[in-house]
Amino acid sequence: MAATHEGGCQCGAIRFEATAAPLGAGYCHCTKCRGATGAPIFLGVAFPRAAFRLLRGETKTYRSSERGIRHFCGACGSPLFFELTDTPDRWEVLVGALDDAADITPSVHVCTASRLPWFDVLDSLPRKAAL
Ligand SMILES: [Zn+2]
Ligand SMILES: [Zn+2]
Repeated sequence: MAATHEGGCQCGAIRFEATAAPLGAGYCHCTKCRGATGAPIFLGVAFPRAAFRLLRGETKTYRSSERGIRHFCGACGSPLFFELTDTPDRWEVLVGALDDAADITPSVHVCTASRLPWFDVLDSLPRKAAL
């Protein structure tokens, strides 16, 4: 039985669930992820697209690059999901949007070439300069 992860935005207008095990989680240091989150680093967890559904509300989307689409709540602005058009079988959920992310284990840092110099990464996870 696969674990179900539920989550939503801060105001509660949008609720979602993912009913399969996560495919993996990773930190991204790129400038677009910083812009979309307002944070120095992004942490997303991927789920199979087929196991993922909205329970309430509809997201607004913003195309942040040719292949990247970001979903957020139009009422409270919470960033929620990230999809890449070249991997449509998986969506990434921002870990902060999950009700309980205690079992999500990040496994990689990507786009570390864009890392803010004062943001020290002290873990021993693999690092990739680009995506
Ligand atoms: Zn909201
Ligand atoms: Zn990024």
